[in-house]
Amino acid sequence: LIESLASLPGIGPKSASRLAFHLLKQDANGLTEFGRRISELRTNLVTCATCHNIASESPCVICRDPGRDKSLLCVVEDALDVVALERSGQFRGRYHLQGGVLSPLEGIGPEQLKLRELEERVSKEGFKEVILALNPTVEGEATAHFVSKRLQQALSTQKNGVSPLKITRLAHGLPTGADLEYADETTLAHALEGRTVSSTQ
Ligand SMILES: [Zn+2]
Repeated sequence: LIESLASLPGIGPKSASRLAFHLLKQDANGLTEFGRRISELRTNLVTCATCHNIASESPCVICRDPGRDKSLLCVVEDALDVVALERSGQFRGRYHLQGGVLSPLEGIGPEQLKLRELEERVSKEGFKEVILALNPTVEGEATAHFVSKRLQQALSTQKNGVSPLKITRLAHGLPTGADLEYADETTLAHALEGRTVSSTQ
């Protein structure tokens, strides 16, 4: 067990031993449940046909939820980004998983991403806003630029009274607890660009 745990990313032999001994102290039911979840990880999962997230059924719970805002679509790279955004509790729209970002060096072009599916959803589902929540890396920036252009092109060819679509990006800025003095110039420039009105209350 220690060996298996140590093979996980970010877990060294010491942490693996600690985790194994922690598990040893759990009651039998808890351990059985834990083991069951691991063994079912590959067998009970499907890809949601709508948003392409990993789910236990398709369409997934988020796509099926009538309480979520149908006019908002958030485009992300992968499933971990959905987990992070859901944890924030601030987004109540829907998602579209692109499956990565453009990376010519790694052979990832537009065809490898779920872009055609995105264009299709945008033209059919009547979103008012598409948020490109891609990572602020060089590849992420280039991909956001590319996707935004493609969506605009796709919508301009389809002139059947579709309401104008707002394409937005996440604000870039300083992380909470950061010190201005140590922020790099790109982060500072983005933080200035994305500044907001200070509340007077
Ligand atoms: Zn879904």
